[in-house]
Amino acid sequence: MRKPKIAVVCHRGEIPGPNRVLPDSIGTTYISAIVKAGGLPFLIPLDYPLEDLSVIRESFDGLLLTGGGDVETRRYNGIEHPSVSGVWPVRDEIETRLYRTAIETGWPVFGICRGVQIMNVAAGGKLYSDISDQVPTHRFIHPQPVGTPRDKLVHSVKIEPGTLLHRIIGKDSIPVNSFHHQAVSIPGEGMVISAVSEDGIIEALENPAHPFVLGVQWHPECMQQYDDQMKLFRAFTEACGQRSS
Ligand code: MN
Repeated sequence: MRKPKIAVVCHRGEIPGPNRVLPDSIGTTYISAIVKAGGLPFLIPLDYPLEDLSVIRESFDGLLLTGGGDVETRRYNGIEHPSVSGVWPVRDEIETRLYRTAIETGWPVFGICRGVQIMNVAAGGKLYSDISDQVPTHRFIHPQPVGTPRDKLVHSVKIEPGTLLHRIIGKDSIPVNSFHHQAVSIPGEGMVISAVSEDGIIEALENPAHPFVLGVQWHPECMQQYDDQMKLFRAFTEACGQRSS
């Protein structure tokens, strides 16, 4: 069986200073996780022409939506907040359209951090634009400070029995890292909650009407030494492989 080809939408960095050309790039941990799981990663730049998105759908076996800046607040009629940063409407648009294509055509999608958030917004759901201000019951610092080791286990998540996530991990609870100041507040159309943190923040969503539409709020690609986290990439790659064989 040939290796499944996985489209990875890029992150756009913000580089200060005049006369700089902005790069579209992706963290190397996402790439190494896909490769270790048996997939072949391909990067999609943010200025890829929207009228030709069908070529991406036809060319690749699955879609990975990664972390990055915040989704534009007005896209989900959210509360504007001074902590919102790194907004690139062009990224919101390409990821929204690719997600909707996936839902229409049964394309496997795996979302990580911002990935689960844009999936939810694309499905008509809503986000807290800032957990610390809008969720008074939060008990953990979900946005760990800059410089915190990316594999630091901060809180655990309770995994809902009967979900795809539970079938993949095979456990009721796992510890995770946490680098997000936003979170899902209202799940979008077709989305069910598959994991929640100990302080009640939604940490994973999935769409059970599809073979593999899953998003997690933590960063499994930064915890590759833990087999439970690599199970996510293996399950995603296997789902993509079932479409490529
Ligand atoms: Mn968290």
